[in-house]
Amino acid sequence: MKMSSAAGSGRLIVVSGPSGAGKGTVCKRLIERRPEIALSISWTTRRQRPGDIPGQSYHFKSVEEFDALAAIGGFLEHAGMYGSQYGTPRPFIDENLAAGRDVILEIESKGARQVILGGEYEVVSVFLLPPSMEELKNRLKGRSSESEESFSRRFQSAYSEIDFAKEYDYIIVNSDVDQAVRALESVIDGSRFRTERAGELLKKLKEEPTP
Ligand code: 5GP
Repeated sequence: MKMSSAAGSGRLIVVSGPSGAGKGTVCKRLIERRPEIALSISWTTRRQRPGDIPGQSYHFKSVEEFDALAAIGGFLEHAGMYGSQYGTPRPFIDENLAAGRDVILEIESKGARQVILGGEYEVVSVFLLPPSMEELKNRLKGRSSESEESFSRRFQSAYSEIDFAKEYDYIIVNSDVDQAVRALESVIDGSRFRTERAGELLKKLKEEPTP
């Protein structure tokens, strides 16, 4: 994990978890409470669903447009899921981090792994879990946009997605959205005090002339 970021440089807050864990809702509420944090809007080749707002939920793109950006290294990470491509465009990230703003990425685990292991950025990674698989099933069933086939695909992939939870810095169980948002805020705030972030400060203190 990269820790010695330049002064004024923000961090990437990576939030993953199975479909139905509530990542979208939790991240949206977090931004409402903490408008100083920027939310990355991904590019995707998946079809727009009812309720999706282009430019807010995603930037909806053709496969050709997506591949063209990928070919010039325009994504921080990208991954395929359920037959569609998803990716985090770089410019928004770089601009915000340079301005000292933390940026939140709501992405699945293959992409998260690229960001975490890439070592290019300081990352705080959080995995959101449902309180039970039964609850996850109910939440996925409750999404009117899910066809029966899409539902079972997402439910099956939730089992495999949960295996990645151990690779994250923090795990939050989303039984109650408000509590989960508060837990995420605590993680974001608390992680500022990681020992690894204090390297420069410790060095400076030791370099001061002793009385
Ligand atoms: P959905 O189609 O339900 O909106 O999203 C499907 C999955 O793609 C979710 O797990 C979501 O977190 C993930 N996802 C959304 N944007 C990105 C992205 O830019 N990169 C990656 N790797 N995953 C993403």
